[in-house]
Amino acid sequence: MGVELTVASEQPSTLAAANPAGFLTIDFEQPERAADAVRLFSQQYPVHGVVGVDDTTAVVAAAIATSLQLKGNPVHAAIAAADKYLQRELLAKAAVPIPRFVLRNLDEDPAAIAKSIVYPCVLKPVRLSASRGVMRADNPRSFVTTHGRLRAILADPETAATCGDRARQYLIEEFIPGYEVALEGLVVNRRLHVLAVFDKPDPLDGPFFEETIYVTPSTVPAGLQAAIKDCADRAVRALGIVEGPVHAELRYNERGPWLIELAARPIGGRCSAVLKFGEGGSGKGVTLEEIIVRHALGLPIPSLQRERLAAGVMMIPIPGAGMLQEVRGLEEAKRVPLVEDVQITAHPGERLIPFPEGSRYPGFIFARGETPGVVETALREAHRKLSFTLLPPQPPANAAGPSPL
Ligand code: ADP
Repeated sequence: MGVELTVASEQPSTLAAANPAGFLTIDFEQPERAADAVRLFSQQYPVHGVVGVDDTTAVVAAAIATSLQLKGNPVHAAIAAADKYLQRELLAKAAVPIPRFVLRNLDEDPAAIAKSIVYPCVLKPVRLSASRGVMRADNPRSFVTTHGRLRAILADPETAATCGDRARQYLIEEFIPGYEVALEGLVVNRRLHVLAVFDKPDPLDGPFFEETIYVTPSTVPAGLQAAIKDCADRAVRALGIVEGPVHAELRYNERGPWLIELAARPIGGRCSAVLKFGEGGSGKGVTLEEIIVRHALGLPIPSLQRERLAAGVMMIPIPGAGMLQEVRGLEEAKRVPLVEDVQITAHPGERLIPFPEGSRYPGFIFARGETPGVVETALREAHRKLSFTLLPPQPPANAAGPSPL
């Protein structure tokens, strides 16, 4: 694209010394301070656009965009998209269909709360993503167990830092049964352009909500898709999102569409590779990243129309808890017809943590074909060729015997 890129991160890059324009270290927990640092940086290396890649950096990007008068969202909109409670409040006010919800403090007695709510319900952290810590409870007993599990997840200092002042709170929501879809969009000057609607053919009924297959185009009837898009559009306006990528999860049932969540960032992990735009031939079109960067810079965008072929990605289910030793069957999986790529992103020696404590998939499988059905079949077949060998997790150091104290 001929665009020079600066990557901002919290930890300094070892490559920064060789390329001072290419790297910048800023504090993501202090968006306004980060914006000041970028303004200073831009006096030497002019910055023409800014893009956040996840919920946290979407807020930082909004602060930078505001400070440098670049294309982007107001900070309050990015915060509302990242904070599940604020988001629920704004959506409720705008009458966007959402589950009933209540914010609670982790220190409140769960047994007392458990008696007062309607089941099934969903417990979730306020500021985590990728379904981490999201759990369903079906009765007061499972509520108390689930609450304990959530408290343990939020006790981790790094996780607590991500949640900021929401680390001691959680949401309880009504469980919305139904079929789930994901919507990928780009907001241009307050208008939502829907780039893709993905079916999620595997049921997501809990108790945990690990994603697996995304396939587009959606096979949901056109009328319902229109209602789903309208629901996402209303959510975008309710949150005050005016520019840039959005990724939304919606459910629908006999009562219509429901907005589960809308984030002001693109689809996560490696999944964006599933989307290609314009007709460059099988999977050769313009990438989602290119569209987002072009939009941020105000460059012309050749097409927002996804390619003709159906496409899908499988987030490879986390095969268990333990240290990854070996992955077999990669070449066979790649040879499955219609499979374009299989990427194992976990490395040997990495600790795999299943949901709901973990949320890092060990890899991704991509396929393209004439119909969503053949794409889904190819993804499942490729997955069956893979086998993961794990070493069992080590018991905590202090579990072996009595503590010296
Ligand atoms: P995250 O941002 O961590 O992905 P979400 O709020 O989107 O958290 O929840 C993750 C998944 O959990 C959703 O995609 C959905 O499948 C399920 N889920 C969350 N809330 C509800 C709910 N109230 N009813 C039914 N399912 C839900």
